[in-house]
Amino acid sequence: MLGGMQDWPLLVWKLIDHAATNHGSREVVSLTCEGTEHRSNWAEVRERSLQVASGLSKLGIGRGDRVATLAWNTHCHVECWYGISGMGAVAHTVNPRLFEEQIVYILNHAGDRALFFDLTFVPLVEKIAPQLKTVEHFILMTDAAHMPADSSLDLTCYETFVAEAPAGYSWAEVEETAPAGLCYTSGTTGNPKGVLYTHRSNVLHTFGGISKDALSLGSSDVALPVVPMYHANAWGMPYATAAVGAKLVMGGPHFDPETLHKLMLKEGVTMTAAVPTIWLGMLQYLEKTGQDLGALERVVIGGSACPRSMIVAFKKKYGVDVFHAWGMTEMSPLGTVGTLSASAAALNEEAQFDIKTKQGRAIFGVEMKIVDEDGNDLPRDGKAFGHLLVRGPWVAEEYFGGDGGVIVDEDCWFDTGDVATIDSEGYMQITDRSKDVIKSGGEWISSIELENEAVGAEGVAEAAVIGLPHPKWDERPLLVVVPREGASPTKEAILSHLEGRIAKWWMPDDIVFVDEIPHTATGKIQKTALREQFKDYELP
Ligand code: ADP
Repeated sequence: MLGGMQDWPLLVWKLIDHAATNHGSREVVSLTCEGTEHRSNWAEVRERSLQVASGLSKLGIGRGDRVATLAWNTHCHVECWYGISGMGAVAHTVNPRLFEEQIVYILNHAGDRALFFDLTFVPLVEKIAPQLKTVEHFILMTDAAHMPADSSLDLTCYETFVAEAPAGYSWAEVEETAPAGLCYTSGTTGNPKGVLYTHRSNVLHTFGGISKDALSLGSSDVALPVVPMYHANAWGMPYATAAVGAKLVMGGPHFDPETLHKLMLKEGVTMTAAVPTIWLGMLQYLEKTGQDLGALERVVIGGSACPRSMIVAFKKKYGVDVFHAWGMTEMSPLGTVGTLSASAAALNEEAQFDIKTKQGRAIFGVEMKIVDEDGNDLPRDGKAFGHLLVRGPWVAEEYFGGDGGVIVDEDCWFDTGDVATIDSEGYMQITDRSKDVIKSGGEWISSIELENEAVGAEGVAEAAVIGLPHPKWDERPLLVVVPREGASPTKEAILSHLEGRIAKWWMPDDIVFVDEIPHTATGKIQKTALREQFKDYELP
């Protein structure tokens, strides 16, 4: 017997329809590549998304076809994102920070038929175009006045494309399990792999994402996703803000603290989200200029571990709550968020900071467990650590094109590649990527915990820990430190800061100071590059 409720397919265009109908005048503001500040609203973004859909349909793009974007966070990118999936095609956000060969690989592997791109990327696209096997249409996201005088490409002007598309387009009524979006992981080893989201998975992820213990978004919020749309869908924020009718503010090509800070203050941003490196720069900038964060109430930090000292600085200096979040491209991406449980909220501030340093509790829709090497469940005692497995309606079960075959076990558990603990309250804490754990004397040292403690030391801006081969212990930790501007921390001072905060046998065997630590295209510390850099380093 079936139930008696309506079958209302979960389609992503319903999000923008909802925003336009119920929050039509709520603003969408962006800084553009042309150097302007563009003001729009949800109603207008919807209208123009429909024009994008109509224009693509005129070009002969059909259901299931992939259409790529190489673009910063702007209103135009949001229009493309809804326009592409709203016509039944697949919005494929490409990370422009990847190596050129990877971008070529990804566009060819996805079989993208059209490419929307920002002015910033004209030289890149002109250069790689001869290697692109499937792209038929190159649409430059600018107006007629900014079109290049000559180009090796047959370029379509975005504004003309939008204006000239036939009016009266209606969204595609596809199955809710039809593909809507595609995003490749950065592939630190091997080729990048594509995660193909469905309309249903994206809408369910949105319901999960807006809840109080997740992004906690409402219509009165002014949200600034600094995290780019090409990095795991800007953590779902272009969907989540439409679902609640929040004002959406976007920095376009700008990631520097000064521009972002100005934008936040001017637009009254209440909520923002980005990887720790962005906030590291912002906190240094605030310290230097003596400014505050205006109306900002909370900041979602994820992508890599957010150090405790960052959480403390945001709260104590600026009254801003950090929501530490964990997820991955394969998870759409939200998995856990570190909001306070009722019992945690009753603890003193220092204990709360400890809890907020953990990656958080699973949001409804994400099941999570840790297992040992043989796949046996491990206890939720906050001590045992093992491989972190997840499953749920917005977790991938295979990669695009079947790369790597089925990526879940027979019970649909997906191995995240992370190693973690889970405590009795459900707080998960990542101790490492499984390939980065340091194995010393048969035991594991958590490089993430060591890094977190090290950045709390005076004069340390960033820290990374890698394991180096050791004749007796197998591997021992080397701490790599980037000093704060103008500071010169010493080995002795850092070691004495670590004393008592970590187990004795976790103490780094040595500390080296560098100007810069290499990062991946999504802002993570690139441990593979660091291990290569220090492969001949001799520990004392
Ligand atoms: P990519 O692989 O493309 O860089 P992802 O964003 O999918 O991008 O990477 C997901 C991984 O990032 C997770 O499996 C985890 O290792 C790491 N990660 C994400 N958030 C956190 C966090 N809050 N703390 C520690 N690691 C994190």
